[in-house]
Amino acid sequence: MMDTSTGKAINLQTKEQFKAEIARWAAVMKVKPVQIRVQRITKKWASCSSKGRVCFSTDLLQESSPFQEYVIVHELLHLQVPNHGKLFKSLMNAYLPGWEAILAERNGSAARSL
Ligand SMILES: [Zn+2]
Repeated sequence: MMDTSTGKAINLQTKEQFKAEIARWAAVMKVKPVQIRVQRITKKWASCSSKGRVCFSTDLLQESSPFQEYVIVHELLHLQVPNHGKLFKSLMNAYLPGWEAILAERNGSAARSL
């Protein structure tokens, strides 16, 4: 579906579809989050606890699917690598080639941490 005023694709995704996408990536990446939640978070796109709970902002439901995928892979990867070091970046490249372009295209995302 397109927004006629901006020409941008609107993502009419439900929370359930988004959660299914997270579960699909968790299987691909062989990580097992203790809990996956999609809830109202305004200061971050997503977060993960040291105990393996991952939490995603409902605002992501309105983002493009490449950006959603980026946030999902980024956050699930923290279950394997807790920082943003070299290993983190090389695994991002392995799972989601082109993630840097996705991030560059979605300017403004730097205002929220991941
Ligand atoms: Zn991060």
